[in-house]
Amino acid sequence: MQGTMMNFPLTLPHMLERASKLFPKVEVVSRMPDKSLHRYTYADFYKRSKALAEALQKLGLKKGDRVGTLMWNHYAHLEAYFGVPIAGGVLHTLNLRLHPTDIAYIINHGGDRFLIVDDVLLKLVLAIREHIPNVEEIIVVPLTGQPVPEGFMDYEQFLDTAEGHFRYPELDENDPLGMCYTSGTTGRPKGVVYTHRSTILHSFGIALPDALSLSMHDVFTPVVPMFHVNAWGLPYAAVMTGTKQVHPGPYLDAENLLDLYEREQVTATAGVPTIWLGILQALEKEPDRWKLVPGMRMVVGGSAAPESMIRAFDKFNLRVIHAWGMTETSPLGTVSLLKPHLLELDEDAQYAYRAKQGLPVPLVEVRAMTDEGEAPWDGKTMGELQVRGAWVASSYYNLPSETDKWTEDGWFRTGDVVTIDAEGYVKITDRTKDLIKSGGEWISSQDLENALMSHPAVAEAAVIAVPHPKWAERPLAAVVLREGEELTADELRAYLEPKFAKWWLPDAIVFVDEIPRTSTGKFMKAKLREQFKDWKWE
Ligand code: ADP
Repeated sequence: MQGTMMNFPLTLPHMLERASKLFPKVEVVSRMPDKSLHRYTYADFYKRSKALAEALQKLGLKKGDRVGTLMWNHYAHLEAYFGVPIAGGVLHTLNLRLHPTDIAYIINHGGDRFLIVDDVLLKLVLAIREHIPNVEEIIVVPLTGQPVPEGFMDYEQFLDTAEGHFRYPELDENDPLGMCYTSGTTGRPKGVVYTHRSTILHSFGIALPDALSLSMHDVFTPVVPMFHVNAWGLPYAAVMTGTKQVHPGPYLDAENLLDLYEREQVTATAGVPTIWLGILQALEKEPDRWKLVPGMRMVVGGSAAPESMIRAFDKFNLRVIHAWGMTETSPLGTVSLLKPHLLELDEDAQYAYRAKQGLPVPLVEVRAMTDEGEAPWDGKTMGELQVRGAWVASSYYNLPSETDKWTEDGWFRTGDVVTIDAEGYVKITDRTKDLIKSGGEWISSQDLENALMSHPAVAEAAVIAVPHPKWAERPLAAVVLREGEELTADELRAYLEPKFAKWWLPDAIVFVDEIPRTSTGKFMKAKLREQFKDWKWE
C-alpha cells in the first residue's frame, strides 16, 4: 500500500508567497547607519526579493551559484535571504567580524560568484578585493544614500533592471539554499550547505510553542547577526509565521537595542550572552528608563547563559530562554523550557533546569558518548554530545578529508562535552578542547565560570587549563570585575569553596581588564591559554 498524500516540496517560494498573500501589511523595521528607522511591509519585501531574484538571473546566476553577503541585519539582507535562493542561488552569509584574510579564504573556498555588501562595509571589500579574483560582480547597498563608487553596482539600480517577469526555477527540496562557515573558534572555518528542506523544517522547529514559539503575534528582533548561522534561522521562521521584524542594523549596544525594544514594543529577541550582559548592566543602572513589553522573551545561545543572568532578568520581568546549537545544526538543537511537572519544583531547582541547554527539539536526537559507549541519562556522567536530525549537516562543503566529525553509525560529533539527565535535559560542561584534565579527572570550566559570574562583583570570568608539572593541567580563572568593585583572589576562592570539590577550585585567579573574544562573541580560550601557558604555579 502507498500513502495517498501529495509530494509537496518543502521549498522557500512557498514561504515567500504565503507572506505576501497573508501578511502584506506586516512591517519590517531596520535601523540605518544614521540611526533613523527604515520601515516597509512584507508586500514591499516580497516585490523587492523577487526583483533581486530576477536581476540576479539576468546577471547570469545559474542554479547552485553562490552569492556572498557582507551585511548587517536589515531589510536588504532579508531580501537576499529570499531573493538569492528563490532564483536557484545559494546565499552565502559572510562574517564581517573575521579577519579579512579569513573572509577572502571563505569567499574563495565557497566559490562565490557575486557579492552583495553594505556601503558602510566597502572598506572591508576593498581590503580583500585583489584576493578574491573569482568574484565577478560586487553589488553595493547604498544605506547611507551616498553614491556608489565606480567599479561597483548600485543595489537599487540593480533591482531596477528587473522587469517584473520573474519565474521561479524548478526547485527540488534537497537543492542547496544557503551556506555558512563555522566561525573557526576551534580551527579553520568549515562550510555547511543548508537545503530548502532543512531550512523549512528548521523554521517549523523554531516556531514550535515549546521551542522559541515564534508567531504572528510577535514583534521580533534578531540581535544575533544575520551572518552568524543565518541569525539562527530566525528570519526565515519569522517570514513563515508572519512575524513583524525589527532589525538593529549595525547598532548592537545596549542603549540602541533598548531604545528599539521600547519604540517597537518588541516581544521576542535573540542573541549571545555578551549582548545580554550589556543590557542587564544598562537596566540595573537605570531601571525605570525603558518601558519594555512585560515578559519579553530573550533567546540566548552561542555560549552558556549563566544562571545568575537568567535570575537577574527575571527581576525585570524579561524571560531568558536558553538554547544550544551550532552552525552544523542549522543551528537549533536544544531549548530549555520546563516540563509542566518541573514547574512544581522549588525556585532554585527550576533555575538549575533553565540554566541547562535543554531538551532536544523534535527531529533532533541526542546522545552522550563515553569511551565505554553511550552515557546513562543520569545528569552526572559526562560524554561527547552527538546529534542527528533533519537539519543536521552530514558533511562539510568540499572538505572530503574532514570525516572524523561523523561517527560510523551516522551521528555528528559536536565536540561539546555534556551530561544528560533523566528528564532528557542536556547540560554542556565544556567543549572537548576546553576541558581541564587534572590528575586524570575532568573539571568543567563552564561550571566554574557560571559560579564565578554569580558573584555580584564579577562581570565576566573565563576558566582555562594551564599546564601543571604534577597534575598535567590545573584551572586558572581570568576574571573581570564590575566597574568600581574590589575583590581579592582569596575572597573569590572562598566564595567558590562551598560549591565545588576542593580539587575543582582554580589554583590561580587573575584579574584582567577584558577577556578576548571571537568574532561571534565567545571567549577566545585559545588566546587565553597562550597568554598563560608559562604560568608559574606556587
Ligand atoms: P564555532 O564552532 O566556530 O564557535 P558555532 O557558532 O557553530 O561556531 O558554535 C557552536 C558551539 O557554540 C557549540 O558547539 C557550543 O560549544 C557553543 N554553544 C552554543 N550554544 C551554547 C550554549 N547555550 N551553551 C554553551 N555553549 C554553547
